[in-house]
Amino acid sequence: MGTRLEGKPVVQFLRENIKSRVRVLEENGVFPTLLLIRVGEREDDIFYEKSILKNCDLLRIKGMVKQLPSSVSMDELTKVFKDVNHDSAIHGIMIFRPLPDHLDLDIIRNLIDPVKDIDCMSPVNLEKVFEGNSTGFAPCTAKAVIEILKYYDIPLKGANVVVAGRSLVVGKPLAMLLLDENATVSICHSRTKEMPAVTANADIVVAAIGKAKFMTEEYFKENSIVVDVGINDDDTGKICGDVDFDAVLDKVKAITPATGGVGIITTTILLDHVVQACEKLTGVSKNFCLK
Ligand code: NAP
Repeated sequence: MGTRLEGKPVVQFLRENIKSRVRVLEENGVFPTLLLIRVGEREDDIFYEKSILKNCDLLRIKGMVKQLPSSVSMDELTKVFKDVNHDSAIHGIMIFRPLPDHLDLDIIRNLIDPVKDIDCMSPVNLEKVFEGNSTGFAPCTAKAVIEILKYYDIPLKGANVVVAGRSLVVGKPLAMLLLDENATVSICHSRTKEMPAVTANADIVVAAIGKAKFMTEEYFKENSIVVDVGINDDDTGKICGDVDFDAVLDKVKAITPATGGVGIITTTILLDHVVQACEKLTGVSKNFCLK
């Protein structure tokens, strides 16, 4: 039977690091602060917002919400970004997406100050990921995958890794982060021919296709390490991944569960980014203190 790669210990490990850095900031009179911008009342956004704020409390990060009506205009939203970009008390900014159709995401992506863009919305940060420049903020889910692999000491250097999915939020940036770790990376997508033959040859397979229990035993070999990024509803409305976990667990070497796997690490990475942004903006960090 394969090992379950649980996200919880990874979260604990990351939290300890964040807490010690927050302590140093506080000792220097700096209080890391996150502003969440929510347009409208989407249930998913409110759920995610609550979870982020709860995690902020745990880590002594100040979490604030700017709530805007779904009818907000581009001019009004532009002004909000200008104000928060210039507000030195705010270190990290995230706007919940998707946004209502009348708002132009291509323009909004360019409004946020890249230094405060903890969720990698700005093209500046995305470009850095593709340049192999680690001074920006990579997408949190892609980074969560790297963290879970590193925590469990899964070698990446020279490993054959297949990323299934090529979205700009998960698949593509993740492939770049894996390249930075010296993995040999292939990307599959909806037009890939005979995908099981490709994935079953890999040492590590990351599933990020958004199709409930799509990847079954034939997609893997006995030594496969499987990271399932997918969050979907199955036939009964229960949360499941892109991999058929129950069918695959017995075959592979290790696999992340759909609940309690990559997903729970993502929010911790987001808050790690807030602290990083705060350190950059204030010049206070564990290695360099004003005092
Ligand atoms: P997305 O934008 O819909 O992209 C899906 C990708 O999968 C596309 O590149 C698509 O290929 C590919 N694909 C779709 N069907 C396929 C198939 N049958 N065979 C091979 N490739 C296929 O999704 P996403 O935003 O990247 O998210 C992917 C999954 O991760 C979703 O389940 C989402 O809920 C989950 N997710 C989880 C987190 C987290 O924190 N854990 C965060 C974000 C997303 P084409 O490009 O050819 O269309």
